[in-house]
Formats: sequence, C-alpha cells, structure tokens
Amino acid sequence: MNSVVCITQVPDTESRIRIGADGRHVDETGMKFIVSPYDEYALEGAIRLKESKGGDVTVVSFGPDRVQQALRECLARGATKALHVKGETSEADSLGIAKVLAAAIKSVPHDVVFLGKQGVGTDNALVGPMLAELLGYPQVNVVTHLDVQEGKLTAHRETEGAEEVLEAPLPAIVTAQKGMNEPRYASLKGIMAAKKIAIESRSLADLGLSDSEVFGQRVQFVSLELPKEKTGGRKVDGADPAAAAKEILRYIRDEVKAI
Ligand SMILES: Cc1cc2nc3c(=O)[nH]c(=O)nc-3n(C[C@H](O)[C@H](O)[C@H](O)COP(=O)(O)OP(=O)(O)OC[C@H]3O[C@@H](n4cnc5c(N)ncnc54)[C@H](O)[C@@H]3O)c2cc1C
Repeated sequence: MNSVVCITQVPDTESRIRIGADGRHVDETGMKFIVSPYDEYALEGAIRLKESKGGDVTVVSFGPDRVQQALRECLARGATKALHVKGETSEADSLGIAKVLAAAIKSVPHDVVFLGKQGVGTDNALVGPMLAELLGYPQVNVVTHLDVQEGKLTAHRETEGAEEVLEAPLPAIVTAQKGMNEPRYASLKGIMAAKKIAIESRSLADLGLSDSEVFGQRVQFVSLELPKEKTGGRKVDGADPAAAAKEILRYIRDEVKAI
C-alpha cells in the first residue's frame, strides 16, 4: 500500500510576519519555517499505513530550496522517499500548485494521497479538492479517523453534532484534520537514517509543465496588509498588589463605567 503525502512549509506560528517592499509578499528574511501542522497528521496517517500494510511513503513538496528542510524532517519521522519540485509558490495560486502536485504524483506509485485540510496561515483549503479533480480521484476532506482496506478506504468526519462514516475506492485523496492521530517526533535513529536518503528534485519542465500553466494565476494577490496595531490597554503598576487592585477597580467603575 503506497502513499503520497503533500507537504507545505509555512512560517512558524510564532513568527512575526513582515510585509515585503512590494506590499504583496511576505518578507521571508530571517523567518523560521515549519511543516504545516495539518500535514503532520497527514504524514502520520501515511506512516501508520506503511507500518501495518507495507509500501512506501513519498513526501512531495513544491516550493523553493528551503522546502528540502521540511522534506528531510518528514524522512526522519518515517517517510521513505522525498520529491522536491522546484519553484516559487508565492507566485502561484492554489490551482497552479495543484497542477504541479498532480503531475508529480502521477510519476509516483500510490494508493492514497494525503494532504493537510489546509495550509496553516495561508488557509485556502483549495489544493486538496483541486488535486482530486485534476487526478479524477474521489476525495474525503477533514478526516478524523481513517481505515484503509484492500481497494477502498473508510473515513470518519466530525460534523456539527454528528459523525459521518464514508467509503471511497482507491486511489483516493484524504485531507487530514487535527486529531486524526498523534503525530510522532523524529527519533535519533530516524534522523540518522534520513540523512542517507536522497531527495529527488524535479523542475516544472521535467514534469512537462510550462511556467504559464503554473504561474498564470487566475487569482492575483493585490496587496497584503497586517492587521491594525492594537491600541494597548492601560498598564497599572503592580509593585503593591493591593493598591493596584484598588486602582483597577476605580478605573473600571469610574472611567470605563463597566460596573
Ligand atoms: C511564506 C509564504 C508566502 C506566501 N506569499 C504569497 C504571496 O505573496 N502571494 C500569493 O499569492 N500567495 C502567497 N502564498 C500563498 C501560497 O501561494 C499558498 O500556499 C497557495 O495559495 C495554496 O494555498 P494554501 O497554502 O492555503 O493551501 P491549502 O489548500 O490550504 O493547503 C492544503 C494542503 O495542500 C498541500 N499543499 C499546499 N501547498 C503545497 C505545496 N506547495 N506543496 C505540497 N503540498 C502543498 C498541503 O498538504 C496542505 O496542507 C504564500 C505562502 C507562504 C507559505
């Protein structure tokens, strides 16, 4: 049973986002990147499938050279192969990214294609459904529990006040929701073993794609703006806690008039 896991690298949720000089892009200078957290559930699902049924777990990422770090981390956790498609994803919309992934996935043996339900921070949740359409596969989104049998999968989804159980024939697309499993950390043995696995690199041309197919965006980024700075509250000197409490009470009662 072979799986492909699509991995997107996103800014660390602790990162302070800065806008680049063009007002349309994130300034990546000094930014720390991580594997998108929902992709960790996707990867863990694929590794568990390999552990119970054998086969390969191929991690695929489309992005600049920095994504090799994310792929290396996935190999250390238990993926067996890695494929990097080189390109600047900040210049592609979700359809462009899905086209690249579809072309890459066609060259890799697979029964299940895993993705995160959305890229954390970018939050489009479009790549999975678009990929399913391009590959002509059934898809189950936002999956909280997955069983894969010969030729089909059974997936659970949590909806408002209920749980759905769905079946789909393989090959199929699954997008992972938080709670689908408990992602493992990389072990020292895994980190050492991962160093021996070569990450395969392809260009768009290798996949038979032209730049205009991938970067001819239907959806254009016009501008990117940070939310307005919070005006900040009022700081009360806490050196004497009793006096500070009195002052807070006075402020809420007499100035804000909330009580
Ligand atoms: C640092 C950074 C800067 C960006 N700057 C811009 C910008 O300036 N202008 C702009 O238009 N867009 C920008 N983007 C957005 C980028 O183009 C989006 O990643 C794209 O629109 C897809 O949306 P999403 O990540 O929300 O994907 P979703 O559809 O939410 O992702 C769902 C799943 O698809 C898979 N996936 C998504 N992308 C990839 C990928 N590249 N490789 C492999 N798997 C993938 C993952 O499994 C992911 O969990 C930026 C993204 C990042 C990380």
